[in-house]
Amino acid sequence: ESAVYYDDDANRSYIDDKTVAVLGYGSQGHAHAQNLDDSGVDVIVGLRESSSSRAAAEADGLRVATPVEAAAEADIVSMLVPDTVQPDVFEAIRDELEEGQTLQFAHGFNIHYNQIRPPEGVDVTMIAPKSPGHLVRRNYEADQGTPGLLAVYQDETGRAKEEALAYAQAIGCTRAGVIETTFREETETDLFGEQAVLCGGVTALVKQAYETLVDAGYSREMAYFECLNELKLIVDLMYEGGLGDMWDSVSDTAEYGGLTRGDDVVNDEVRARMETVLDDVQNGTFAREWIAENQAGRPSYTQLRAAEKSHDIEAVGEDLRSLFAWGGETEGSETEEDEE
Ligand code: NDP
Ligand code: MG
Ligand code: MG
Repeated sequence: ESAVYYDDDANRSYIDDKTVAVLGYGSQGHAHAQNLDDSGVDVIVGLRESSSSRAAAEADGLRVATPVEAAAEADIVSMLVPDTVQPDVFEAIRDELEEGQTLQFAHGFNIHYNQIRPPEGVDVTMIAPKSPGHLVRRNYEADQGTPGLLAVYQDETGRAKEEALAYAQAIGCTRAGVIETTFREETETDLFGEQAVLCGGVTALVKQAYETLVDAGYSREMAYFECLNELKLIVDLMYEGGLGDMWDSVSDTAEYGGLTRGDDVVNDEVRARMETVLDDVQNGTFAREWIAENQAGRPSYTQLRAAEKSHDIEAVGEDLRSLFAWGGETEGSETEEDEE
C-alpha cells in the first residue's frame, strides 16, 4: 500500500521563504512556475538566452534569468527542461548547487539511469504531476487539484520529504492527492505504461484493427469510427468507473463478444512480449537505446515519426474530423462551430 498525502499533510513553511528556480518554461515548467508564484512562493525561471519561451515567461509576470543564474539564486532547482537535455543543463548548473539545496524532478529517468549524478549534500526529490502541464495549470486556477507522485532519492537535510510535500501543495497536487513512490518505481512504471499501453500498445491495436477491416473490404471511414473514434467513449467510461462501468454501459452483445474475444487478441504471447518490454526497461536496454538515439541525432526516431504520420488512418481521420461536428475537439462536445 502506497501512502497518499493531501493538503493537510503538507506544511507550507518548508517552502514559503524559499526561492524556486524553474528550469524550462514548457508543458510542466509554465504550470509549476505560475502555480508556485500564485501560491506566494518566490520563483525565478531559468532559460537560455536564445530561448523562445522567454517572452511567455516574462509576459506571465515572472522573473527570468539563465539556468546558471537561476540555480545560483535558488534554494530549490526544479528541473523541467526535456529529459534528453537535462544532463547538459545539469552539467552547466552543477557548480551552483550547494549543500542544503534541492534538486527536484518531475520524472525519474535521468537519476534512475545515472545520466545525472547529483552532488553530495544536495537533496534530490520528485514531484511528478500525473498530467500534462496545461491541466496542472488549469486545475489550479479552477481551485482543483492534479494527482501527483512524490519520491525522495537523496535526503541530506532530513527535510527532503516535507519540502517536496510543500512544493506539491503549492502547485496544487495535494488538493487531489499525492502518492509516495520511488525514483525507480516511477521511472519503470512510467516507461512501461507508455510503451505497452498508453502510447505504444493502444496505437498498435488501433492500427492493426483498422488495417484488418480495410483489408477485408470495409470502408476506411467505418474502420476509423469503429477502431479509433469510439475508443474515447470507452476510455471515458473506464476512467469514470473502471472496467465495470464500461461493461455495464455497453450492450450485452458487446460485453459477451468482448469477454470471449478480447483475450484471444491480446493473448499470452502478447503478455510474454510485454514482459520483454518490461525487462528492457528494468535492465536499462531501452534507456541506453534512447540515449544513443539522441546522441546520433535521432535518425530512427525521425523515420518512425514520418512513417506514423503517413499511415492511412491519419488521412482518413483528418477528413472525417473536418466533416463532423466534434471537429477535433478533445474535451466536451461543444465546439465553436456548434454555437454558430
Ligand atoms: P518541455 O519539452 O515542454 O520543455 C520545454 C522547455 O524546456 C522550454 O522552455 C524550452 O525552452 C526548454 N529547453 C529545451 N531545451 C533546453 C536547453 N537545452 N536548455 C535550456 N532550456 C531548454 O518539457 P516537459 O514539460 O514536457 O518535461 C519536463 C519534465 O517534466 C520532464 O522530466 C518530463 O518527463 C516531465 N513530465 C512531463 C509531463 C508532460 O505532460 N509533458 C508530465 C509529467 C512529467 P527553449 O525555448 O529554450 O527551447
Ligand atoms: Mg512518460
Ligand atoms: Mg458497436
